Amino acid sequence: MAYLHPETIALHGGSHRADPNTGSVAVPIHQTTAFQFQDTGHAARLFGLAEMGNIYSRIMNPTNDALESRIAQLEGGAAALSVGSGQAATAFCVMNLCEAGDNIVSSTDLYGGTWNLFANTMKQFGIEVRFVDPADPENFRRATDARTRCYYAETLPNPKLQVFPIAEVAAIGREIGVPLIMDNTAAPVICKPLALGAAVVMHSTTKWIGGHGTSIGGIIVDGGNFDWEAGGERFPTLNKPDPSYHGAVWTQAVKAMGPVAYIIRMRTCLLRDLGAPMAPFNAFMFLQGLETLPLRMERHCENATKVAAYLAGHPKVASVTHPSLFSGEAARRAAILKGGMGSLLGFELKAGAEAGKTFIEALKMFYHVANIGDARSLAIHPATTTHSQLTVEEQAMSGVTPGYVRLSIGIEHIDDIIADLSQALDA
Ligand code: PLP
Repeated sequence: MAYLHPETIALHGGSHRADPNTGSVAVPIHQTTAFQFQDTGHAARLFGLAEMGNIYSRIMNPTNDALESRIAQLEGGAAALSVGSGQAATAFCVMNLCEAGDNIVSSTDLYGGTWNLFANTMKQFGIEVRFVDPADPENFRRATDARTRCYYAETLPNPKLQVFPIAEVAAIGREIGVPLIMDNTAAPVICKPLALGAAVVMHSTTKWIGGHGTSIGGIIVDGGNFDWEAGGERFPTLNKPDPSYHGAVWTQAVKAMGPVAYIIRMRTCLLRDLGAPMAPFNAFMFLQGLETLPLRMERHCENATKVAAYLAGHPKVASVTHPSLFSGEAARRAAILKGGMGSLLGFELKAGAEAGKTFIEALKMFYHVANIGDARSLAIHPATTTHSQLTVEEQAMSGVTPGYVRLSIGIEHIDDIIADLSQALDA
């Protein structure tokens, strides 16, 4: 059944109902490496993609399938692929389209790990990443040439938390024939990038989807809404014969399965060759997180908005960054977030870096960790941790000033969150 509401999809969406063999309501953890073939013909059909089914857990697993089909439905996409981490998901998104000599255009507002992957590691493979400022969506068009394979951005990038103009950049891309890939990690449920024109969505499931700080994982959702054949020369990995699969042309070979060429090619080639699967146990953990994600997002966002208002009125605080406080163009862009403004928040102490450190050390309930999206409230001082390798100028460019503190607001009672912040500010 095609459920329309995220609260219902999170519990009932996708391929799993009850386990056909046991009746198990919870998705069983299929902790197996390989799957028994019915006979030699069945094995040959699976390998030849004439029939879909399980072969080997590096490439597919029924527990992962339950997670993939549920998240694909939640994002409004055609199909999804789970992988071992958010980083692997980003790498796969790009490598599925690019060969050496190709380029992508990426927003400058990125998670540090993604920045490193794009600026340094992709270069090793001959893939150029052109970074552009998303303040002007036209920057994406200006940086595009015949070898540009995709655009890449984050919906709600921290620390600046300036919401990305998804519809505007997706429209430019569709005009030229370039797909937009969105990292929607910080805005699950509250933003639907595919509905705004993006072609692919990825998540670090490690964060809000998992929601309990227990497991590392990533997922890629194929929107099924981009014409890779019309792209002609731009998408040879999808619309030209693939020597690694008997010359299969992916846009043709899997047509009967729906508009899923992008994600099937990622599974059959990249996951096969690079091998970064999500462990079935972690897929189970993410299914548990997913069940309460819509409910948690509501509380995360509600708490963060209250914390933003509290900090904005505090005499020791110089400035607060949270979309609920934006005005003008930033507020217009943030209006694509529905039902909440996210749970990431930044603020600047008037007394600078030392005060930032003192504040973090004085927190009693908040955890001091390099993570976001946990059910618990988390804090970090980026200038001395996540962004400490950058120069002061680079820190400023990425939105990190010496006294800047980043919070990931959890789902505790708001009074307890504010009490902890208040006593730490007093310190
Ligand atoms: N994307 C965003 C927005 C992130 O914040 C992170 C990690 O912090 C990643 C991707 C990478 O995810 P993972 O840590 O699961 O590899």
